[in-house]
Amino acid sequence: MRIVISEFMDEAAVDTLRQRFGPDAIHYDANLVDNPAALAAAVADCDAFIVRNRTQVRGALLAACGKVKVIGRLGVGLDNIDVPACEARGIRVIPATGANALAVAEYVIGTAMLLRRASYLSTAEVIAGKWPRNKLSAGRETAGAVMGLIGFGSIGQLTARLARALGMHVIAYDPALPATHTAWQDIGVQPKTLEQITTEADVISLHVPLLDATRNLFDANRIAAMKPGAVLINTSRGGIIDEAAVVAALKLGSLGGAALDVFTQEPLPATADWADCPNLVLTPHIAGVSFEANIRVSSMIAAAVIDALK
Ligand code: NAD
Repeated sequence: MRIVISEFMDEAAVDTLRQRFGPDAIHYDANLVDNPAALAAAVADCDAFIVRNRTQVRGALLAACGKVKVIGRLGVGLDNIDVPACEARGIRVIPATGANALAVAEYVIGTAMLLRRASYLSTAEVIAGKWPRNKLSAGRETAGAVMGLIGFGSIGQLTARLARALGMHVIAYDPALPATHTAWQDIGVQPKTLEQITTEADVISLHVPLLDATRNLFDANRIAAMKPGAVLINTSRGGIIDEAAVVAALKLGSLGGAALDVFTQEPLPATADWADCPNLVLTPHIAGVSFEANIRVSSMIAAAVIDALK
């Protein structure tokens, strides 16, 4: 048995795999993703392949996976894997569904509170002796505000629970979840249309996969239709919002704030476009990555791969 791991995995979970299959069976190199020739050679005779989100499992690399029976994905979102082609080859693809949901949900709540209150970004001015108390005294509280979720799956539902605990009113749009589904009532969330979420929410947070139907879902027109001063948070995937439109709306002041963790091109190329945008938080695809989530995601995938190879 051979297992190739091409990106970072929690060491304890790698050890679980070593104990089960023997130390020589595990080829773990967190930087293998950056060496395409070595990666293609490594997967040629392996039974299981474990990736995070940077390894593109498609085309020539997938063709090189001659013996692979299972692909473990250290995270959720399968847009870096050609799932239909894997299925056609009889390869099972297993995501770590739910294991990093709490990390993402806490990021959403944290950035929503930071951007609505807008009082925490004053460190440089306070150090400089400016004491901007009047300027920052109109920050908005969280309780009573409307949280609008696009996508009400694993992360959307957990975000809703945290938002409800803070006293937010939560509305969500998810065409695949029937209005009779117990999650709506259990969590206390009102199903709404995409248009209603767009115009009614004080905070909009995206929790959908990147699909043809979601690509550019928040384009310039939809961002312009948002409630004046609302906050937009994207932890789902780049390409679902129009990044240039976010920059323009922040500079215009129609958008009250934005937190973006994912981008059309990652790493985001150095550019002046984002400079001088007020109330902006940019993070390097880290919302789902925390100390605890890393452990949960890695142990879930190690157990799933062991099970799949039985
Ligand atoms: P999930 O599959 O549990 O939920 C996704 C939901 O989106 C489903 O309920 C589905 O019905 C709904 N949906 C699909 N198309 C839709 C559409 N057009 N409009 C509205 N809803 C639609 O997935 P999840 O675990 O909640 O994760 C959501 C996404 O978050 C993932 O696909 C992934 O891309 C992203 N993600 C990012 C990070 C990060 O670190 N930034 C971490 C984890 C997940």
